[in-house]
Amino acid sequence: MSGKNIKKNNDDLMEKIVSLCKRRGFVFPGSEIYGGLGGAYDWGHFGVALKNNIKQNWWKKFVESRPDMYGVDAAILMRQEVWQASGHVAGFADPMVECEKCKKKFRADQLEDKKKCAECGGKLGTVVQFNMMFQTKVGASGDSSAISYLRPETAQGMFVNFKNTVDAFHPKLPFGMAQIGKAFRNEITPRDFLFRQREFEQMEIEYFVRQENWEEHFEYWKGEMLDWMEEVGLDMAKVHELEVSKEDRAHYSSRTVDFEFDYPFGKKELFGLAYRTNFDLKAHKLDYLDEERSEKIIPHVIEPTFGVDRAVLAVLLSAYCEDEKDGEIRSFLKLKPNIAPVICAVSPLLKNKPELVEYANTKVYAPLKTEFGRVAWDDNGNIGKRYRRQDEIGTPFCIVIDFDTLTDDSVTVRDRDTGKQERIKVVDLKKYIKEKIS
Ligand code: ATP
Repeated sequence: MSGKNIKKNNDDLMEKIVSLCKRRGFVFPGSEIYGGLGGAYDWGHFGVALKNNIKQNWWKKFVESRPDMYGVDAAILMRQEVWQASGHVAGFADPMVECEKCKKKFRADQLEDKKKCAECGGKLGTVVQFNMMFQTKVGASGDSSAISYLRPETAQGMFVNFKNTVDAFHPKLPFGMAQIGKAFRNEITPRDFLFRQREFEQMEIEYFVRQENWEEHFEYWKGEMLDWMEEVGLDMAKVHELEVSKEDRAHYSSRTVDFEFDYPFGKKELFGLAYRTNFDLKAHKLDYLDEERSEKIIPHVIEPTFGVDRAVLAVLLSAYCEDEKDGEIRSFLKLKPNIAPVICAVSPLLKNKPELVEYANTKVYAPLKTEFGRVAWDDNGNIGKRYRRQDEIGTPFCIVIDFDTLTDDSVTVRDRDTGKQERIKVVDLKKYIKEKIS
C-alpha cells in the first residue's frame, strides 16, 4: 500500500512512539512489575536489535574502516582518583532546588518560575549543587578508600588507557580512541522517555591532535558526525548546530558545538562535539613522545560524543510515518534496511498448506536466516495483517511464498514504503537483500 503521507508531525507523536516501543517489544519501563524505576528502561528483542545495528554501524564507520582509531572497552568501576583528577567529584553537578512545601526536587536551570513550585505553588528553597555521580563502595571494608562511582561518561575510561594504547600500538598523531558503553547519571528529573535517563549508553571518540591543529580537526569531526547521522536515517531537517556559550560548557571544554534535534518536546541536545584541550591528559599526568620530532607533548583532544539512546529515539522519530489508503490508516517505521531490527519477514501464503510451509521454511527462511540473522517467520493471520505488523516494526521487505512458487521458484517481495510487489527468483534473494542493505 502506498498512500498519502499524513500526520507525521502530530502532537501525540511521543505517545505513539512510547506505546509502539512497549507493544512491539522495543523498550519497556524499567522494573515495571514493581511500579517502575525513574530514568531506567529495559530493552526488548527488537529494541536490542535496533540499538545493536546503530552501534555496529557507528563502530564500523569510526573504528573498523579507519587506520587511526583504537577501540577500548574499559571497566565501569574505576578508582575514585580517576574522578578526582578529572574534576567530576568536585564539579559534575547540576543546580537543584527543593519545594519547601511538597519537597519535590527540580533542576533549577530548567525552571521558568525560579521562585514558585510548578507542582504545588509552594515556595522554592535555595539552589544547591547536586553531584550526579552514583557513588558505591568496592569491596568489604566500607571505609572512604573503598568509594567508587558508576562512570558518568565513557571518556575517562579512554584517557586512563592512553598510555596503554600508545605503548601497545605506537600510534602517530593524530589518532583516536573509541568506546561504546554504559554511563550513569543521577539526573534530578529524568524525563522524555529515552532522552534523559539515569542509565544510558554513549559512543565516544577521543581524538588526539597537536594543539596547533585543533580547529581543523574540530571542523573535520563536525562533518563526520553529520555524515553518520544521515547514514542512520535521521531527518536532517530536524538537526541543528548550536555553538555552546562559555557559561554553558562543561568544565573541561574550550569549545563545544551541540547537535540539537527537534524532538516533539522541543529542540534539545542530541550529540555533542567538544574541544577538551589537554585538560584530561594533563590531569592524569600523561604525555606523549613524538619520536619524529623528539619532543614530549601533551596532545589536545577533540571529542565527538553520541548518546546511543538519544540516537535510537531520534531514529524512531525520524522513521515514524502514517499513510492512508482507502480510508485505512497504517503506521510504519521507515527505517533504513541496515538499521531495521528485521530485514525481511518470510510468510507462506497459507499456514495450513504443508507444501507451502515446507518450501517457505527450507528453501527461503532457513537460508536467509543463516545468512542475515535478522529474518522473521510470520504466518499469523491474513497477509494484510502480516504486512501491517511488519510495517509497524520497520521491516523493509515481506517475502511471500504462494502456489506459483512451487512451480516457478519465485516469490513475491513487497516493499514496505511503496507497497510495490516484485517477483524475485528464490536463487536471487540473498543477492537482492544484500544490495538493499548496502
Ligand atoms: P544534557 O545537557 O542534555 O544533560 P550533556 O551536555 O550533559 O547533556 P554530555 O555530557 O555531552 O551531555 O554527554 C554526551 C551525550 O550523552 C549527549 O550528547 C547525549 O546524547 C547523551 N546523554 C547525556 N546525558 C544523557 C541522559 N541523561 N540520558 C540519555 N542520554 C544522555
